[in-house]
Amino acid sequence: MKEHHKEVENTARKWLHERGVTIEDIAELVYFLQEKYVENLSMEACEENVNRVLSKREVQNAILTGIQLDRLAEEEKLDHPLQGIIERDEGLYGVDEVIALSIVNVYGSIGFTNYGYIDKLKPGILKKLNDKSQGCHTFLDDIVGAIAAAASSRLAHSQDGTEEDD
Ligand code: MG
Repeated sequence: MKEHHKEVENTARKWLHERGVTIEDIAELVYFLQEKYVENLSMEACEENVNRVLSKREVQNAILTGIQLDRLAEEEKLDHPLQGIIERDEGLYGVDEVIALSIVNVYGSIGFTNYGYIDKLKPGILKKLNDKSQGCHTFLDDIVGAIAAAASSRLAHSQDGTEEDD
């Protein structure tokens, strides 16, 4: 069973990388969200918190599911009408956001506020993922935003001493 867990985590990390998202990209979003609130914030601290979020099974499951669907949509392998809905990233679809929300609150509800904020501003890697000419990232953009939001909550909690032991 332990081998299987490792395989899920390694594959989730590999797929993120293959889709053009690095730990550093996500850490930059965390930095963007937290620099105003955390004194002497370092990129290392941001990366450490992203890595902790990525070690969570529910996060790995969301990554695998979302990226798989994005890829199948790119290859036009989904059935009608889902193919078109995901390909066009239709605003009323909403399942991409639901999957992201399963990540956002793992470290408490400030994750939700952070997620809404970067989803609106789309800094850094999120802007790149939203460029439709760069492939289908209907799920991935929300998942990456959610990982950054959760890592920011974790960082904030570790600052005020209420960090959970994980
Ligand atoms: Mg989306």
